[in-house]
Amino acid sequence: MSSTPSKIEMSIPFFRATIGQEEMDGVMETLASGWLTSGPKVKAFEKEFAEAVGAKHAIAVNSATAALHLALESLNIGPGDEVLVPTMTFAATAEVVIHLGATPVLVDCDPGTLNVSLSDLAAKRTAKTKVVMPVHYAGQPCQMQEIADFADQHGLHVVEDAAHAFPAAYRGQAIGSLSLATCFSFYANKTMTTGEGGMLTTNDDATADRARKMSLHGLSRGAWNRFTAKGSWYYEIEAPGYKYNLPDVAAAIGLGQLHQAENFLQERRRCAARYISAFADSKLIDTLEQSPDVDSAWHLLVIKLNLPALSIDRSEFIVKLNEAGIGTSVHYTPLHLHPLYRERFGYKPEDMPIASGVFEQIVSLPIFPSMTDEQLEYVIDNVLAIAAEHQR
Ligand SMILES: *Cc1c(COP(=O)(O)O)cnc(C)c1O
Repeated sequence: MSSTPSKIEMSIPFFRATIGQEEMDGVMETLASGWLTSGPKVKAFEKEFAEAVGAKHAIAVNSATAALHLALESLNIGPGDEVLVPTMTFAATAEVVIHLGATPVLVDCDPGTLNVSLSDLAAKRTAKTKVVMPVHYAGQPCQMQEIADFADQHGLHVVEDAAHAFPAAYRGQAIGSLSLATCFSFYANKTMTTGEGGMLTTNDDATADRARKMSLHGLSRGAWNRFTAKGSWYYEIEAPGYKYNLPDVAAAIGLGQLHQAENFLQERRRCAARYISAFADSKLIDTLEQSPDVDSAWHLLVIKLNLPALSIDRSEFIVKLNEAGIGTSVHYTPLHLHPLYRERFGYKPEDMPIASGVFEQIVSLPIFPSMTDEQLEYVIDNVLAIAAEHQR
């Protein structure tokens, strides 16, 4: 491990989805059935997903972004309202707030877990705050009891961005049943995928009804449920809704993925445990702190570079990993550093010092179910060797 292993011995993608026979068969069966849009596969997928997370309702949609939008819409969020959003997240979490005419108020992160900072949450709340949107960063659940207490104390709703967090648990309870609404992503590189897709889960009947209606043009079929004589062609437009429904072809993939979720999780745990033990003694490479009362979904494996001890920066570190054939990513450039938030909302880097600082240090390494032990060792050897070679 004293010298960098020879270049391009291997090529390891940042992520590779595992697609099984059930997904392939399900897609073929759906295509052959003639029913391509939302239908029986979506119904089955919603039912099984709701059971998997212990929620009363699950509404399948075509992205987590759609689920987040519907969750906030169901709460009537609009102009004059503020929504607390972690800065350490993907574009979607805050953009849906803007789409509704409300204001995303960005919140700094905890330096250990990179989940939302509870003290900064409290500091950013105002009389206009209506919703808190925790993001379970990298798959590690946030401190949900503290967030629920904070929300209750100030009459706020909690909408969870669980795009990284299936399956995950907080104090033994599955993410998806803890708050008013929880939003999951089945984007191509998430812990389970439908290509594109998402799910909104809730235990609240009114939230479920509104989200379901708004996910398909604001149409109500209540009328023909009550007056069957009108027939199945009848519907009423009750609100200007969206076009967010998931097609059956995607749901067929989702069912197969869901049946492998436990196996996928075991494999990601295997990878995470190996990375963590490999870097445990390193003074140059840190991994994220793990809270003792959560079970992470291990969507991302994020390392933090000890920059003062290194002669190269994060970007150069990534170039060296790429030269060794290793795919990486950065999650995330904090929202407050992006032009939209700097220019429209006036954020400066020093407004969120923890996220601004840690952003310079983070690299996301490959972690996916089919990653072999040999691939894992190759990544680990290269990370340690690059760090050792560029130690100050
Ligand atoms: C992927 C992701 C989303 C968006 O998911 P889509 O299904 O692509 O809309 C939202 N939030 C976070 C934190 C994500 O990682």
